[in-house]
Amino acid sequence: MESVIYDYTRQDAQGASCTAHAWAKVPEPLSPAERETTRERIRQLLAERDAVLIAHYYVDGDIQDLALETGGCVSDSLEMARFGRDHTARTLIVAGVRFMGETAKILSPDKTVLMPDLDATCSLDLGCPPDEFAAFCDAHPDRKVVVYANTSAAVKARADWMVTSSCALAIVRHLKEQGHKILWAPDRHLGRYIQEETGADMLLWNGACIVHDEFKGVELELLRKEHPNAQVLVHPESPRSVVEQADVVGSTSQLLKAVVEGKAPEYIVATDNGILHRMRQLAPGKTLIEAPTAGSGATCKSCAHCPWMAMNALQGVLACLEGGTGEITVPEPVRSQALGCIDRMLDFVARNPSAIAQPQQGFVRHLGAA
Ligand code: SF4
Repeated sequence: MESVIYDYTRQDAQGASCTAHAWAKVPEPLSPAERETTRERIRQLLAERDAVLIAHYYVDGDIQDLALETGGCVSDSLEMARFGRDHTARTLIVAGVRFMGETAKILSPDKTVLMPDLDATCSLDLGCPPDEFAAFCDAHPDRKVVVYANTSAAVKARADWMVTSSCALAIVRHLKEQGHKILWAPDRHLGRYIQEETGADMLLWNGACIVHDEFKGVELELLRKEHPNAQVLVHPESPRSVVEQADVVGSTSQLLKAVVEGKAPEYIVATDNGILHRMRQLAPGKTLIEAPTAGSGATCKSCAHCPWMAMNALQGVLACLEGGTGEITVPEPVRSQALGCIDRMLDFVARNPSAIAQPQQGFVRHLGAA
């Protein structure tokens, strides 16, 4: 097995400065009266403009609720992509981060795709510049190029396969069975986790999610001692020291399913805390505890919430509908080149629905408890 971490060293500085920019652009909270007025106006305009609202689990709870009330969806990036492609609305309002809007546009070029703030990006996307990634691919022509959804259209245009955290394990297993070696980008933690689970030969890019990268293994051990009956749910973008303590590892949808179907009364959740809104709605009797980030030294960089997801607010959704702001464009030939790797994933998932249905269970616990 070969595993080389590509040395991409500029990400931290770039990511940090962009994080400050993102927090500065998070809209001020609305008053209760303003919230209700804005929600009502959005409901009207969605119907008038033949538009549908597609929201990620990490965005503002009001936006999630509106999406569900009005026939849209709240989901992970895999389901967002499928929902937007299959919906009949002429306009897709995508509340999430830029790669999600780009994926929607790539799959639905004849629809108008609008986003509350086009500056809402992702540290994984920022940490994988297309030109440097192309050079990495050129240096390893013998490998299948597998990229995470959290990448730009230009990076996807260079890939053989796109994956999300829901289907990454199943697709890499499939490629390994076919005898392929893999070039993986951009999340190093997810790549390492998949490599260890599948035994595939993978070269890893050195990107990270600034939210999940902050979860801390030592603090999690202490928290588990305080809550010995809690189940630990972990997104695989987290560091190994956190993943190794998980009872369940999975995508946002898979972690949600684990809370809803689980028998335990308490859950420690290691993913963006935006998902707690939907978890509380679907599992109201259960206690949800945020996994620790940087302990008492935590800063706004490590608050378990993505600043780019936080840029999505009701005001931005309303601006999309009133003024057509935030339109996503993906020029040709990048769009059609990127479509190939996304279609390949969607076809695989359609043919293998059971491969993505279940979260991963049964990780070894360090503290001796079962
Ligand atoms: S939570 Fe992490 S992976 Fe998701 S959009 Fe934010 S930075 Fe990217």
